[in-house]
Amino acid sequence: MTDTTHIELAMAERETPLILVVDDDVVIRRMLKKALQNQAYDVVEAPNGSEGVELFRKLRPDMVLLDVLMPMMDGFEACDAMRKMDPERTVPIIMLTGLDDVTSVERSFDVGATDFITKPVNWSLFSQRVRYSLRTRDMDFALRKNQLRIRHALQVARLGYWDWDVRSDYFYLPPGVLEMLGVNISGEKFGFAELLPLVAEEDRDRVQQAFMQARDQGQRFELRHRIVTSSHTERYVYQQAEVVVDDEGRTRYVMGTIQDITAMKRAEDMILHQAFHDQLTDLPNQALLSDRLAHALKVAEQSGHKVAILVIDIDRFQLVNESLGHDAGSMLLVLFAEFLHRFVQDGDTISRISGNEFAIMLESLPDIAQLHDMIRNIRQALHEKAFELLGEKIYLSVSMGVALFPDDSVDAEQLIKCANAAMRKAKAQGGNQEYFYTTDMNRRVHDRLRMENDLRIALDNNALELHYQPQVDTATRKIIGMEALVRWQHPEYGLIPPIRFIPLAEETGLIRQLGSWVLEEAIRQTGLWAAKGYVLRVGINLSARQFAQDDLLNQVPALLQAHGLNAKFVDLEITETIAMQDADNSIRKLHQLKELGVNLSMDDFGTGYSSLSYLHQFPLDVLKIDRSFVKDIGRDGNNGAIAKAVIAMAHSMGLEVIAEGVETEMQYAFLNKHGCQMIQGYLISRPLLAEQFEELLKK
Ligand code: C2E
Ligand code: MG
Ligand code: MG
Repeated sequence: MTDTTHIELAMAERETPLILVVDDDVVIRRMLKKALQNQAYDVVEAPNGSEGVELFRKLRPDMVLLDVLMPMMDGFEACDAMRKMDPERTVPIIMLTGLDDVTSVERSFDVGATDFITKPVNWSLFSQRVRYSLRTRDMDFALRKNQLRIRHALQVARLGYWDWDVRSDYFYLPPGVLEMLGVNISGEKFGFAELLPLVAEEDRDRVQQAFMQARDQGQRFELRHRIVTSSHTERYVYQQAEVVVDDEGRTRYVMGTIQDITAMKRAEDMILHQAFHDQLTDLPNQALLSDRLAHALKVAEQSGHKVAILVIDIDRFQLVNESLGHDAGSMLLVLFAEFLHRFVQDGDTISRISGNEFAIMLESLPDIAQLHDMIRNIRQALHEKAFELLGEKIYLSVSMGVALFPDDSVDAEQLIKCANAAMRKAKAQGGNQEYFYTTDMNRRVHDRLRMENDLRIALDNNALELHYQPQVDTATRKIIGMEALVRWQHPEYGLIPPIRFIPLAEETGLIRQLGSWVLEEAIRQTGLWAAKGYVLRVGINLSARQFAQDDLLNQVPALLQAHGLNAKFVDLEITETIAMQDADNSIRKLHQLKELGVNLSMDDFGTGYSSLSYLHQFPLDVLKIDRSFVKDIGRDGNNGAIAKAVIAMAHSMGLEVIAEGVETEMQYAFLNKHGCQMIQGYLISRPLLAEQFEELLKK
C-alpha cells in the first residue's frame, strides 16, 4: 500500500477529531479552542506559522484553522508548507481572513486552503462550518478508501478498464493501466491510432476490426491478443467491451476492460503441451500424432503427395529394462528419441506412441525413395551407434513397419494401425527388419498359396531334412548334445530355412504333420546314437500350435518308448513368445510335460516380452541366450552386460545356460569366464546332416 493509504487509515482510527488552531492572537486562539471543545473536539494550538507546520507534521490533525496574518511565517506560507506534506489534500485547512479581504481569500485557495472563515468570527456559523468541513472530509476519505480498494483489487486481478469516446476519438485510461501492462508511452491523450501500435503486429488487424465494428455497428466484443511491451517480452491480454449508444442508436462510447492473462495463458499452454506430449521424451504423443496425421492427409489429398507412417519398435527392450533397471530403460528411451531426430526434417513428426514404440510421420513425400533412404540410414546408424547407459555400451536393433497414404488407407487411425501391424510382422520374423504394409502383405498372400501347396507335397514326399547342430560343454569342448533344426529341400529354390516355412505351416495347420515328423525323426536318431554308445541330449523346437496341442502329451512318451530313448535326453524348446501367449495355461502345460521326464528349455531368451516374474513360475531346466546378445560381445566397447546379467539371473534360478550363435573365440572365452555351461554356434559347427554329425562324434 502507498504512504497515503497508510496515513488515511491511521487518521480513521482517531475517535475524536483533532483540530489544530494556529493564530498569533492569544485571545482568539482561546476562544476558538473553547468553541471547538464545546463541540467535543480535541484541540492543539500554535502561536505562529512555523510551529503550526511543525505540529501538523507531527500530529497530522483532522483539520486546521489557520490565521492569515501572523509574524514570522504567515498563513499562506504555512498552508503551502502543510500542503507539501499532504498533496492529496486529505486534511481540510480553513483560513481565518479579515472581512472583505478578497485578495486573501483568493490567495488562500491558491495555496491549497479548503475554505475560509472571516474575522470577527460568527460563532453560530462557525460550528456549522467546522462540522460541515469534517463531514466532507469523512466522505472524501470513504471515497478514497473505496477507490483504493478497487485499485488494489484491479491490480491483483491485473485488470484495467478504459472507455473510448468515439466522437472525439479520445481514450480514457485510469492511471496505472498502461504500467500494469508493461507499456510505457508518453503523452496524456490517446486516440485509437496511438494505441493500436501497442498490439502485436500479428494480431493488429483482428483488433482493429473489432474496435471498428464496435464503433460503426455497435457490436460488443471479446478478444485475446498479444501486446508489445516496452521490454519486448510477450504478454497476452483479454479485452471485453460493451457499447453505449446515443438517442439515435449510434455508438457514443465503447467501454471495456483489459486483463493481463499472461500467467494464465502460460499455465494453459503448459497443460496443453502436457496433454499432447510424452512426459519422458517430450515427443508428441499418439493423440497429437493422430491429429497431425489427419491434417497432413487433408493437405496431401490436395497435393497428390504421399504420407508415410513409420512405426519403430526397439527389439528386446524389455530385457534392458529388467536387467539394467527401469531408470536405465527410461534413459535409453530418451537417448533413442534424441537419436531419431537425426533422420527427420522440419515438418516431420516424431512421436512416442507407447512404451518402446515410436512413430515417424513423413509429410508430403514426392516419392518413396526418400523413405527407403531414411530406413537404410536408421539401420546403418544403429549398427554403428552404441548407447551409453550406466557406463555400459548397448547396441540396439529395431523392428519397423511402414504404411502409406493413400496406398494402404486414407484414414489416419487406420494408417497407424497398418504401420503397427507391419511392425509386428517384422518383429514376428525375428526383429531387426522392416515390413511395408501393402507391398509385402500382398506378396505374402501370393507366395503363401504356392508355398502352402509345395509344403504339402514336401511333407508327403519326405522332402524335409533334419540337421543337427552340436552343443558342447564349455569347459571341455566335448559334444554333449545337439539341436535338431528342420530344413526344406525345395525342387526349385533349394534348401529353404525354417524361418521361411514354419510360420506358414503354423498358419495353415500343416505344422501338426511337420511337428510330428521332426519329433519322431529327432527321437529316432538320438535313440540310434544312444544305442551306438553316444550319450547325447537332443533339443527339439516346438512351435506355438504344437505346444498348445494336447496329443503332444501322448506323442512324446510313445515315441520315446518306440525308439528306446530315455526322456532325460530330450530338451523341448519353446520361445518366450509362445510361453507368454497364455502364460497361466503355459505354466500348467509345462508342468505336465515336465512330468514326462523331459527337460524344458527357454529358447531365444531375451527376444520376447516375457517378464521375469513369469519366468520364475515356468518349470524350466535350460535357458538359451539368444544369439543377438552373443553377437555384440567384443564389439568395440561392448562388455556383454546383458549376456552377463542373463547368465547370473539364470543361475540364481537354478537354470543351466546355453549360449546360441557363438562365432568367435573371444565370445567363447567371455561366456566361459562368466559361467555359461554350454555353447552352440558356428564356431563349433554349423547344423549338419546326421551322417556328417556322426563323423564329428567319432573324432
Ligand atoms: P533356434 O531354435 O534359435 O535355432 C538356432 C538358429 O540359429 C538356427 O537357425 C541355427 O542355424 C542358427 N545358428 C546356430 N549357430 C549360429 C551361429 O553361430 N551364427 C548364426 N548366425 N546363426 C547360428 P535355423 O536353423 O535357421 O532355425 C531358425 C529357427 O527356426 C530356430 O531358431 C527355431 O526357432 C526354428 N526351427 C528350426 N527347426 C525347427 C523345428 O523343427 N520345429 C520348429 N517348430 N521350429 C524350428
Ligand atoms: Mg531352438
Ligand atoms: Mg534360439
